[in-house]
Amino acid sequence: MSLYKDRLETKIIHASTLENFEQKTGAVNVPIYLSSTFHQESFDQFGPYDYSRSGNPTRHALELTIAELEGGARGLAFASGIAAISSAFMLLSAGDHIVVTEDVYGGTYRFITQVLTKFGIEHTFVNLANLEETVRAIQPNTKVIYIETPSNPRLGIADIREIVKIAQANDCLTFLDNTFMTPLYQRPIELGVDIVLHSATKFLSGHSDIIAGIAVTKDEELGNRLAFIQNSFGAILGAQDSYSLIQGIKTLGVRLTQSSESAQKIASYLDVHPLVEQVFYPGLVSHPGHSIHAAQSTGAGAVLSFRLPNRETAKTFVENLRIPVFAVSLGGVESILSHPAQMSHAAMPKVEREKRGITDGLLRFSVGLEHVDDLLADFAQALRVCELGVIRAERR
Ligand SMILES: *Cc1c(COP(=O)(O)O)cnc(C)c1O
Repeated sequence: MSLYKDRLETKIIHASTLENFEQKTGAVNVPIYLSSTFHQESFDQFGPYDYSRSGNPTRHALELTIAELEGGARGLAFASGIAAISSAFMLLSAGDHIVVTEDVYGGTYRFITQVLTKFGIEHTFVNLANLEETVRAIQPNTKVIYIETPSNPRLGIADIREIVKIAQANDCLTFLDNTFMTPLYQRPIELGVDIVLHSATKFLSGHSDIIAGIAVTKDEELGNRLAFIQNSFGAILGAQDSYSLIQGIKTLGVRLTQSSESAQKIASYLDVHPLVEQVFYPGLVSHPGHSIHAAQSTGAGAVLSFRLPNRETAKTFVENLRIPVFAVSLGGVESILSHPAQMSHAAMPKVEREKRGITDGLLRFSVGLEHVDDLLADFAQALRVCELGVIRAERR
């Protein structure tokens, strides 16, 4: 046992080489093992790797890294966030039921409502911030409570400890999508969650260059069951992308710290702007989940959303911004602005969307690494154009 208890920022740099993969050369980076199969020296005593769907040394280094960072027993890397999420749901059987946060990522919503139902796995959407409603939704066949906190795109906060208590009292597992926080800010396994899921496409990789997913299990037994699904379903992450993700994770500490600091400033700016109806950011004291979030996380993150009066204003704003890219996704070094109604939540019917507050004027902003003053100036000039439009419309 080491006498030192390194902080996550330190572990992040060295975790991928902890296993000394490169004892032969001393390379500081994990090699990319481009090999689908592995020669077996002995006729009947096989080595640790046989075929890269079942295990690849580069992917294995990544899986050990993420398990170490989340504090879990087993990490598994998948071809996308959705592949990780759907593979976790494959632990269930026909006749099972799940309770899901209503403010769930659009692709997860699509998988639950249009794929799982075909296999006889039913669901109930609830507002997880309302614990009574959550308890009421539990049925004798409920096997999983699915949490996303902060949720997408309204940054709703669920009390992880309380939901874990409810789940344990009812013999359910808890799955938590930790994409927005990353292990740097939120470590759900320490709070009792059974499986942590990530779209590693976002903050973990950080450069908008790969699609990847991660699952980390609290215990070894669940890890073995999920590894069996990973191998059976086969949605694994390739060796090159595993390498990119290992490299991305090394800079997570500085990236997320810088972007979150900027996000706090931008949220505060938007919060008092007359044209902005509402800002959703857990770092604002006015956010209804602010204190719960502060008790279970060490940062507010780099994603915020805000509501402009209508679609027309949102359109003018987006068309006049100079710096951010207007795109699906988040968590990159470049700031990314998106319009959930047409993008991440397009898979959700309009009535369901509006029930969740995803109106046509709602925009989501993922803060990158540009200088915050440049971003603020850009927002200010685009909002001025919107204000002029509103004044013109009132005069008419
Ligand atoms: C992007 C995202 C996903 C899906 O991940 P992919 O890598 O795109 O498959 C799941 N959850 C959240 C919160 C996301 O932002």
